[in-house]
Amino acid sequence: MTDFAQRTIDLARRNVAEGGRPFATVIVKDGEVLAESANKVAQTNDPTAHAEILAIREACIKLGTEHLVDSTIYVMAHPCPMCLGSLYYCSPKEVVFLITREAYEQYYLDDRKYFEVSTFYDEFAKSWDRRRLPMRYQPQVGAVDVYRFWNERNGGQRRSTVVPSP
Ligand SMILES: [Zn+2]
Repeated sequence: MTDFAQRTIDLARRNVAEGGRPFATVIVKDGEVLAESANKVAQTNDPTAHAEILAIREACIKLGTEHLVDSTIYVMAHPCPMCLGSLYYCSPKEVVFLITREAYEQYYLDDRKYFEVSTFYDEFAKSWDRRRLPMRYQPQVGAVDVYRFWNERNGGQRRSTVVPSP
């Protein structure tokens, strides 16, 4: 049986050797690799090209569903808030992480203008007007009409999708 944790580490290590950042994700379904990716931010300048996002995207396209209920997702490090959100959205069976942020922070730091990795989760818990990211609420009457339109087109149902039971 494949050691998927080791495979994740090997993928991240290879990415570093190629000039990429030290993260990788391997998505496993029925004992086989369904999709995998390293972090591609350095290679693409796309700040959303985290390994989790790219692998989840590939897996969902392959399966033709937004739900990965039968999959186990191996990630290098405890996920950032963006990836944690994407992991919540795809409803995997389990997420396995191989290192904590605290354990690697002496070697790698990923701070930005509006957060430090150590404060990032706390930022999300704040109300929008207290976050460091400048946000402005601009109410528009036309906005709710789009949701009403969606509701009408979908037979008066509110639920956008149903997570299949595994
Ligand atoms: Zn991430």
